Amino acid sequence: MTSSLRPSDPALPAPSAAPNPPSSRQPSLRPPSPRLAKLVPYDPKNLPAKVLLSANESPYGLADETQARFLEALATTELNRYPDPLARDLRTKIADFCAVPEQYVLIGNGGDELIFNLLLAWGGPGRRLLITPPSFGSYELFSQLTGTDLLTLARTKDMRIDEAALLERLGRGDVDLVMFASPNNPTGDCLHPAFIERVLAATDALVLLDQAYIEFADAAYDATHLLDRFENLAILRTFSKAFGLAGVRLGYLLASPLVTETLCKVRQPYSVDAVSALAGIAALDTAEIMQKRAAITVAQRTRVAAALAALPGVHVFDSEANFLLVRIEGAAGLWQRLLDEHGVLVRDFSRALGLADCLRVSIGTPAENDAMLEAIRCVRR
Ligand code: PMP
Repeated sequence: MTSSLRPSDPALPAPSAAPNPPSSRQPSLRPPSPRLAKLVPYDPKNLPAKVLLSANESPYGLADETQARFLEALATTELNRYPDPLARDLRTKIADFCAVPEQYVLIGNGGDELIFNLLLAWGGPGRRLLITPPSFGSYELFSQLTGTDLLTLARTKDMRIDEAALLERLGRGDVDLVMFASPNNPTGDCLHPAFIERVLAATDALVLLDQAYIEFADAAYDATHLLDRFENLAILRTFSKAFGLAGVRLGYLLASPLVTETLCKVRQPYSVDAVSALAGIAALDTAEIMQKRAAITVAQRTRVAAALAALPGVHVFDSEANFLLVRIEGAAGLWQRLLDEHGVLVRDFSRALGLADCLRVSIGTPAENDAMLEAIRCVRR
């Protein structure tokens, strides 16, 4: 056991009596909240590898023009001052980009923080969150952290949301918060706005439509037009994926002022720092670069999906995101050999609910995708 007490300042006189032997020492730290007993810290499983296709990041670094704008703005920013808690300059840009009023935008330290804030505000003891696993793990993790009851609705065999069952369940009126992702991580499927509309009309629960991957999806899946009519809708977006800024930690929520103002009660005022806000502004000012790169990723997704589907015994799920979910015999062993023998890191989902023998493969650069495909062929030869 490591000592829980720092050594004292060497300049102080030595204590006169020898310290108690460890066995007779009083416990020096109370146990934490019992709520944490079953929790394990989040592990992103980011192992070192040559080809990183496990975290759905952008494979592209900051474009020169984006970087130049960012550095120019940074040079004139007073970092000795606290940032604007709402990052209003960034908020204005996001509002323009998404064509919504400014009061509809709330920024966060990554989408993760906004998910946590939603659970702080609409969850908590005695309140209920509905999710449709397999989906993004933070929903469940943060519901546990906030003591929110979790209600799970199983997906159909082909991993789609059971729309009728969801509407029926919401009709009972005892759910406070719903979270689903479109495109969904890890399955890659989208929910059509016509269905979202029926969900919003069926409940007064706050509905989070997590669109972290929307830039890779067909434009028909954009649901921002529903914000006008439904104050129980919140749409989550992030700079971590198509914008290629996962290292910056910047996300935003689009929702009615009723929601954004409530979230201001629970959010940490300075969770988005001045430097991150500048990176977000530079990324939005050069959004056409993001759009071109996203189009390349989408074309690569089609190519990789066809190549994987051509392998015997492989099923590739349809995806609107920058990754593919693949059912492949012996997935766990294959995952290990891809890493050990070829330096290719993908994500093993074979132990997740309903995802036996499934791997999730992020779409990388054309060369990274080729390396991954060749490695899979080689291991299965
Ligand atoms: N939603 C989904 C569906 C995700 O997959 C992720 C990241 N993997 C996030 C939200 C959160 O992203 P970030 O915190 O990096 O913005």
